[in-house]
Amino acid sequence: MSRFDPQEALINTRREFGEHGGVAISVARASTFTVMDSHTMPEIFDGLRGPEKGGCFLYSRHFNPTLDVLSRYLGAMEGTEYGVCTASGMAAISCTLLQICRAGDHIVASDTIYGGTRALLNDLLPSMDIHTTFVNPADTAAFEAAITDKTKVIYTEVLANPTLRLADIRALSVIAKARGLKLVADNTFTPMVISPAQLGADVVVYSLTKFISGASDMLGGAICCSKDFVLELMDLHTGRVMLFGPTMDPRVAFDVSNRLPNLAIRMQEHGRRAMAMAQMLEGHGVEVCYPGLESHPQHALFSEVANEEMGYGGIIAIDCKTNERAQELMNSLQNDESFGLMAVSLGYFDTLMSCSSTSTSSEIPPEDQAKMGLSPGLVRLSIGLTGSLNKRLEQLERAVKKVGLTG
Ligand SMILES: *Cc1c(COP(=O)(O)O)cnc(C)c1O
Repeated sequence: MSRFDPQEALINTRREFGEHGGVAISVARASTFTVMDSHTMPEIFDGLRGPEKGGCFLYSRHFNPTLDVLSRYLGAMEGTEYGVCTASGMAAISCTLLQICRAGDHIVASDTIYGGTRALLNDLLPSMDIHTTFVNPADTAAFEAAITDKTKVIYTEVLANPTLRLADIRALSVIAKARGLKLVADNTFTPMVISPAQLGADVVVYSLTKFISGASDMLGGAICCSKDFVLELMDLHTGRVMLFGPTMDPRVAFDVSNRLPNLAIRMQEHGRRAMAMAQMLEGHGVEVCYPGLESHPQHALFSEVANEEMGYGGIIAIDCKTNERAQELMNSLQNDESFGLMAVSLGYFDTLMSCSSTSTSSEIPPEDQAKMGLSPGLVRLSIGLTGSLNKRLEQLERAVKKVGLTG
């Protein structure tokens, strides 16, 4: 069997054209849809008609033609049957977990996850009697050991934010299948680079806000999964997306659909530049973490599971040890060198940098940060693709020398 290729999968799925044969898809902005015959409407309500059953639409919080095209494209890119698009990444994550879990259920989750997801699992879900045990994402045995007879979900980010530890999705999926659990993987950091559904994840969730948007100009999320799970999420009586209503705007879906064709080359370029920078930094004795470096503890695993030609992703982490030193580095990179911008988020065309412990991971208490190996001086850089690479390397080199990070 030939290896999965997300670029080929994306172009080989049924292509949708716009009205009048437009090469771009049409934006269906209508909130409600009319029918030709009065009998059709009850059939839609009974689930006998739908987007894949004669092209009937009801109401845009349920299914919408533009959202449906994007959902299909994202599903194709992941190699899942289908998908659902949401208004944000957090909507995708919370609806997925609440669809699977009921009061009394238990989740085993990576301890190194996006701060909002951590808050959801640690602070919000316990009030609904859904409890989570957190484990080291690189320690597959720890996931297994934490499973109880109440566990329903194993949750992990494929590449952990911000420590860049890689979860072994194949090994976790073996455990999940043996115990009858759903493996949910957040692939926001590595779209097209790694395809978790191909490695055994049951549901792949995304923040489209990051690399997939690529321009930091929209919020969006996606759930890539089986057709059955889509129907559960959209069920008129119990569907979490249908009833909580975090629906994506069709105009946003149109924008995202236009960015998918160049996602692969953007990821390749983010990765090429991140690799060159990580190698330069390592050569100067800077404590840098990047999965493309042989010094990364899971370099071999990453190389084995990553899709061909897609590199190692666009995120690097520099450990400045102290928060003060991290601030100095970011100030120098932004204000002396114009290398990048101090901002949370990632996947922008310019470099974005933040000190995780006091920003996107600040929901995690300091003692837990220490446990997950998050240094107070860790600067996460989402490497951009603007400007000349040589100039960027010079800027970065000057800044790390200036703040005394070179060994
Ligand atoms: C940003 C982010 C999210 C949340 O996405 P939003 O679109 O901001 O809701 C979830 N997971 C990861 C890994 C992220 O980086």
